[in-house]
Amino acid sequence: MIIEIIVIRKCFSIAVLYSILLMFLAACSPKNRSIDAQGEFVMGTYCRIDLFEDGSPALYNKLFTRLEELEKIFSANRDDSELAGVNRNAGIEAVEISAELFTVLERALYFAEATDGAFDPTIGPLVKLWGIGTEYARIPPDMEIAAALALVNWKELELTAGIKEDLPIAGTAFLKKKGMALDLGAIAKGYAADDLVSILKEAGIKRAVINLGGNVYVWGKKDNGKPWNVGVQDPAAERGNYLGILELERSISVVSSGMYERFFTGDDGKHYHHILELTENGRGKRGYPAENGILSATVIAVSSMDADALSTSCFVLGYSRGMALALANGAEIVYIEEKEIRGSPGAMSIFTLTSH
Ligand code: ADP
Ligand code: MG
Repeated sequence: MIIEIIVIRKCFSIAVLYSILLMFLAACSPKNRSIDAQGEFVMGTYCRIDLFEDGSPALYNKLFTRLEELEKIFSANRDDSELAGVNRNAGIEAVEISAELFTVLERALYFAEATDGAFDPTIGPLVKLWGIGTEYARIPPDMEIAAALALVNWKELELTAGIKEDLPIAGTAFLKKKGMALDLGAIAKGYAADDLVSILKEAGIKRAVINLGGNVYVWGKKDNGKPWNVGVQDPAAERGNYLGILELERSISVVSSGMYERFFTGDDGKHYHHILELTENGRGKRGYPAENGILSATVIAVSSMDADALSTSCFVLGYSRGMALALANGAEIVYIEEKEIRGSPGAMSIFTLTSH
């Protein structure tokens, strides 16, 4: 089988230096590929869209403009984002928010509850403290971790659907404590992928591959009737080397979370990645990168927003709880662990190991 690999560049390529990056590879037969496939750095990552024979500059333009708009809503790294406005008002007042932000926060709270807080959209203070993926990444002192953890609590995010001056508004968001901060890094790209798919539907696009830094959506059918092939990055190999392939027969999203995606090596020589442990589970340390033997979790679901939130959630929860959560939400999952690859029956039936 000939596979063309779309290389996904992540925001912080520091990890490339250490050769154990992972990522997702949307792959498809070369003869299908449009020369018009477009890529852009937006939403903190490299985003690539391939519309095949339906590609037109106007539609690419519309899709990337939409991504830029979504970045202005969801970015945790821009002072002018809508999200930053909610964070600035933490402990002060509720902020009126857009329907987009409301939808994502609502779903994030759903997953926070479903994971007993292992997934938490108010993780901002802890993410900032570690700075993983930035030049100031470091192992924070325990006292600072404790102080950040005291500000992470999804139950103190108040979301109210609303009406204002008799007009319907999406609603308001309020972080109850000063210093609290939202970070939607684990779910916003999934929402964006779904949003682009809705534009494709409206435009009557027959087939497309959307790849937002590893949040992949395959849309429609390949013209040769064969399944889409999405490669799963080998955690122990350089970017672009996949361990196996998922064969997808229909429009669906594939999202992975991995310990090789963004990380730094501490002064103690240890690997510190960007998916953080928030709950006591007897493994790893609260407030630290999750240490449970999982190298990556790859989730397949119709909703890319769910697949995104689930990939992060299932990574932290580990195999048993993560598997149950994925299945309860109509998703399939492949776990890559140190010594084994295992997953839900539906996922393993379409997964082919390509390297060992
Ligand atoms: P990526 O952003 O590399 O695609 P993920 O979807 O797994 O990977 O999201 C990781 C990001 O989510 C982190 O960079 C951080 O912003 C945020 N995050 C880390 N740990 C958690 C957690 N336990 N709950 C919610 N968000 C998290
Ligand atoms: Mg995620």
